[in-house]
Amino acid sequence: MRSHNVGLVLRQLVRDALVGDGELSRADLARVTGLARSTVSTIVSELIEAALVSEGPATASRGGRPPIALRVERDRYHIIGVELGASHVTVVRTDLLGGLLGQASADHPVQSDPEGSIRLVAQLVEAVCPAPLQGRVLGLGLAVPSPLDPARPGLLSDRILSAWAGVQPGERLHALLNMPIFMENDANLGVLAESWWGAGVGLDDFAYIKVATGVGAGLFINGAIYRGASGLAGEIGHTAIDPAGPRCRCGLNGCLEAMIGSGALAERARQSLASHPGTRLRAAALDLPSLIAAAHDGDPLAGPLIGRAGFDLGVAIANLLNLLNPGVVVLGGTLASAGEALLGPLRLAMADRSLFTSLASTAVLLSPLGDEAIALGAAGLVLQQALDAPERLLFAAQATAAR
Ligand SMILES: [Zn+2]
Repeated sequence: MRSHNVGLVLRQLVRDALVGDGELSRADLARVTGLARSTVSTIVSELIEAALVSEGPATASRGGRPPIALRVERDRYHIIGVELGASHVTVVRTDLLGGLLGQASADHPVQSDPEGSIRLVAQLVEAVCPAPLQGRVLGLGLAVPSPLDPARPGLLSDRILSAWAGVQPGERLHALLNMPIFMENDANLGVLAESWWGAGVGLDDFAYIKVATGVGAGLFINGAIYRGASGLAGEIGHTAIDPAGPRCRCGLNGCLEAMIGSGALAERARQSLASHPGTRLRAAALDLPSLIAAAHDGDPLAGPLIGRAGFDLGVAIANLLNLLNPGVVVLGGTLASAGEALLGPLRLAMADRSLFTSLASTAVLLSPLGDEAIALGAAGLVLQQALDAPERLLFAAQATAAR
């Protein structure tokens, strides 16, 4: 109960620091949390003693003693966020509130090389967080390109990532780095990042779709990540768009990912090169960024190819809207940078297929968080865990104070 109340107070202060005016007083906290003023005062004293919160200047008096604004000491703890992509690793170090303090990234064949990937993560963590700072690290959030089944804790899906069968990346990183590790599916952390810092701030029901090498969705329902019974919720990349379509890496045919994942788009471009003599695309350099750049310049092959991907994605989003009715859909990942070349056909498909005009008008927004969105979400996971179990923040604070 007490832990719950501490979390309640701290969550309000964090939210106020991120999207409010930073002027919350003890009386404001009592009002917004519904806790007794004496309870709030005791909790705030404890947070101040742990150096997690400090008192700012007195704010304008509304009669009586002027209230004192309370601030989260955002530099008190640092957080490490890691994105294991299909073919790259990104590591960020943030302060307690997700402010970016350091970043490192490297290309790596993550899908096929678990051992090398784990070593690379450890190296990049050492690079963004030198040893003197490691005592201040609250934890490491790890985003993985795989659904996580609670019945198989610590393991990735061997159907999606066969090379990782039997490998427990969380345990391995804990042994190498000696910090608490929290692991979550990458798209789920995309939706979490949007809810803390991006296009989903203040929204209780919205979806995030990441379109890059793989395609996945994170669902935010009633103010929390929705994982489903066995962690497979949001696997929009493996919903069927064309059952007679190309083979997907999951073994099925015509999945969304097999239609619009970056490998699928490059392959389709390669097959069409001969029939489009006017294209500037060259077989030697067919990757998603070059397809997008060519589409922006009106290339006769790349433009329609990205448009078709937008239409297919729009069909999948229309299905999602008809099932879950999210208020907003946020698009992230490399393909989202195609902008209008993608969004125009996407909106057409949505308008055609959504059942009600209110669904057809659901806003589709591009993620404002950039390339670090997923790694930032991984840091957000550690923040979320700390707010859910704030005694760890207090104990960790006492432990460092005693040192
Ligand atoms: Zn599939």
